[in-house]
Amino acid sequence: MRTVSLIPGDGTGPELTAAMRRVIDASGAKLNWEIVDAGEDAAAKHGTPLPPATLESIRRNRVAIKGPISTPLGSGYRSVNVALRKEFDLYAGIRPCKSMEGVPSRFENVDLVLVRENTEDLYAGIEHWVGKDAAESIRIITRDGSRRIAHKAFEYAARNARRKVTIVHKANILKFTDGLFLETCRDVARDYPQIQVEDRIVDNMAMQLVQRPHEYDVLLCPNLFGDILSDLCAGLVGGLGVAPGMNLGKDAAIFEAVHGSAPQFKGQDKLNPTALILSGVLMLEHLNEHRAADRVLQGLRRVLEERAHVTADLGGQASTTQMTDAILAAMKS
Ligand code: NAD
Repeated sequence: MRTVSLIPGDGTGPELTAAMRRVIDASGAKLNWEIVDAGEDAAAKHGTPLPPATLESIRRNRVAIKGPISTPLGSGYRSVNVALRKEFDLYAGIRPCKSMEGVPSRFENVDLVLVRENTEDLYAGIEHWVGKDAAESIRIITRDGSRRIAHKAFEYAARNARRKVTIVHKANILKFTDGLFLETCRDVARDYPQIQVEDRIVDNMAMQLVQRPHEYDVLLCPNLFGDILSDLCAGLVGGLGVAPGMNLGKDAAIFEAVHGSAPQFKGQDKLNPTALILSGVLMLEHLNEHRAADRVLQGLRRVLEERAHVTADLGGQASTTQMTDAILAAMKS
């Protein structure tokens, strides 16, 4: 039995993680859950949004899955999501965006994987006021940080029979930081001659993705551009309700949906559990529970294709619970 840390999260997180848990529990995977707090409730209960017991649990189990966690805007504590990625050095954010039959979207057969550097860039959190009326944020890009994320992207491409990696940057303007990122990624690309490599300036990349997403395969991005483009890519395959993700480091992995806590829907049992369930599938694959992962995928695909029990974002009328019930029934049959 493998123990996994489970963080329910904020807003709609607890209801969506509960749905994910029901489905993974029915998959036949040999898993135990260790439920730990982080976010708003943890801040109220423990005086910190990221209690030491949560960190210890993840350190011990090395694998966690989490619901989204709200971040106060402007003031208040810093992002727990960013803190977790830093604490466990989860330097690789990997977000597959693949069209699924039955999920309404502008394109069919999109199959992209966004690889996002997760620890540097403007997310280093080095910000300060300059007097009263100006503020400054420092963007950090290092050769080592760029090298390891580039290796991760090319390694992922090689292992998953992908044909091409596109390096995303703004090196025309950010000559030092993105210049270093681009140069380092190109250098790493030489170790993978079987994989085609190209680069795009981020603004052009955004346009190309909404016009010709089929021309792209693996996208290799620094942190901020990766954050923005991963929501764009989610939009290409049906929206945030269906976009899963994983954060990988050397010693730990944390799985989570791309979407946030959508607090305005809290307790309404309305949102789509697919993104978190697909994040659970990525976790099962990471744990070598391939048969369990396939079982979940088959059940989920059947419900999406039939369209009779899907949530409002997919054009249906089902609640989170009803869609989850349908997935469980499809897994049994
Ligand atoms: P959000 O992703 O929570 O919601 C944006 C919109 O997307 C929602 O209004 C909803 O219409 C739709 N949506 C999101 N999840 C959905 C689902 N499962 N099914 C159907 N539709 C869905 O983004 P936001 O409103 O910008 O952020 C809310 C909070 O979440 C903020 O505090 C933010 O900091 C936090 N956040 C957390 C994470 C994370 O935990 N990794 C990621 C992004 C945002």
